[in-house]
Amino acid sequence: MGSYFRRAFRLAITTNPRLALLLAGCTLAAGVLPAGMAWVGKLIVDAVVAAAAGNANARAVLLLIGVEAALVALIAAAQRGIALCESLLRAQLGYRVNDMILAKALTLELAQFEDSEFYDKLTRARRDASTRPLNLVRQSFGLLQNLISLLSYAALLSQLSVLAVGVFLLAGLPAFLAEARFSGEAFALFRWRSPDTRMQIYLETVLAREDHAKEVKVYGLGRPILGRYGDIFRKLYRRDRSLALRREGWGFALGLLGTAALYGGYGWVALQAVAQRISLGEMTMYLLLLRQGQAAVTASLSALGGLYEDNLYLTNLYEFLEQPVPDRVGHVTAGAAPGDGIRFERVSFRYPGATGDAVSGIDLHLAPGRSLALVGDNGAGKTTLIKLLTRLYRPTGGRILLDGTPLDAWDESALRQRIAVVFQDFNRYQFTVGENIGAGDVAHLHDQARWRQAATDGLAAPFVETLPGRYGAQLGSWFKGGRELSGGQWQKLALSRAFMRREADILVLDEPTAAMDAQAEADVFEHFRRLAARRMAILISHRFSTVRMADEILVMRDGVITERGSHAELLHAGGHYARLFTLQAAGYR
Ligand code: ADP
Repeated sequence: MGSYFRRAFRLAITTNPRLALLLAGCTLAAGVLPAGMAWVGKLIVDAVVAAAAGNANARAVLLLIGVEAALVALIAAAQRGIALCESLLRAQLGYRVNDMILAKALTLELAQFEDSEFYDKLTRARRDASTRPLNLVRQSFGLLQNLISLLSYAALLSQLSVLAVGVFLLAGLPAFLAEARFSGEAFALFRWRSPDTRMQIYLETVLAREDHAKEVKVYGLGRPILGRYGDIFRKLYRRDRSLALRREGWGFALGLLGTAALYGGYGWVALQAVAQRISLGEMTMYLLLLRQGQAAVTASLSALGGLYEDNLYLTNLYEFLEQPVPDRVGHVTAGAAPGDGIRFERVSFRYPGATGDAVSGIDLHLAPGRSLALVGDNGAGKTTLIKLLTRLYRPTGGRILLDGTPLDAWDESALRQRIAVVFQDFNRYQFTVGENIGAGDVAHLHDQARWRQAATDGLAAPFVETLPGRYGAQLGSWFKGGRELSGGQWQKLALSRAFMRREADILVLDEPTAAMDAQAEADVFEHFRRLAARRMAILISHRFSTVRMADEILVMRDGVITERGSHAELLHAGGHYARLFTLQAAGYR
């Protein structure tokens, strides 16, 4: 339990030391004051009895009542103080933990995101951990408060009988052990259900998000998916119910033990008063101490159980935060052979958990000013090559060089600066038009002049000018006033985003024109060719009318390069490329 406990505490304290200190102070006050109240209560009763017998005057009674009222006000202040500190700390701590989780996510590799076990960790960490550290702190302060109360009660009660104190504490022990056991079980259950919970979240997304709504309606998927959602719920509910039943049942049975101890104590105290071994005031105090003491024992028990559970949940958070990140040793910002361009040397790659290589034995060289097209059936490995080039994945065999220096040795940001890429599944940010374009170069995220130039280059400018609000128009339908664009328009924005990277000398377009009309495609490639005069360009496309413009064409099949050469050479060779080309050309005749 120890280490996460300490870390959660350190986290809470460093988040806002002053609040944490105030919280500790209030907790202490809320812990000792109730015993003081019980003591004053005894004094009041004794003073009343004495005054009634004519041995004291009534002013002393009123004074004591005034003291008790003041104590009540102080306790209220301490409790409000605790609530205030907690709500402020909760907000700050919640933000901080989420920030830690998201910042950690930024350092991870793409491959880790695609690993379901890892994704589970991320989901679990995000779902619960942001409230858990505060819970843990709150529970431990609550525990401390109750323990202080118990100690002060015990001190007062031990005047009567030390044995009674011992019996009383022992009576709470079984309930505590049961609590700890069920907390552990609840946590195991939480882990066990994690994949199902994730599936549930996903089904919710499919059913309730605008980008899925089209297919769900057209194919009538709604009911079946909802049914699946219900099945998962029922499966999880059965386990939840069984645990809840046992937990509450045992809690009740063992709680009875405490109640028995309490009323045993009651009877004994009453008998002591009857025998006049204690005063009426003392009896009042002891009865109050017994009752409050039992409440404090119960509260401590549940705080302990809660602590145990929170601590277990925190293991999720730290498991995620401690997920090893591949070290980024690279510091090189300029290659050993500037102007050499991109080289793949016998590169192969296998996806984690896959049984075969997605690409293998890839050799290629692309010099500045040249363009390269990749052609091949779906699943041939084209996109995988691009992911390797952009270092989203690292080759499992061979190596990739940029300007004579292996990619691994390159400094992360120096490398990213040089590459502009439009992926097939590019992002459609629910931001403004300008931000959608500006996202291509974070250093110039808000540079309006650059947006315009990039939009012109990416052919987005003409339609953007027609939008109300132009570059300030909100896109997507998640936020108020957002506009949805057509697939081709989104694609032009994605292209413009790539053109934001003016310093980039490697341009990668993965089927950039699939959603565009023919004229737009011709325009993009016209432009693409102009840019390619000083850059390296890599293009993936199924349209031979554009592929043929590339200086070199690689034909891929099942992860290997089967043909290479210029359009004319490949046609002449009469291989797969020539067949595909003739097939497509025939379609246009
Ligand atoms: P292409 O771009 O030529 O259509 P890809 O490079 O996307 O092909 O895919 C090449 C092969 O790698 C395919 O067999 C595909 O199933 C597999 N693959 C692609 N992405 C992943 C992934 N994230 N995890 C595991 N296998 C993948």
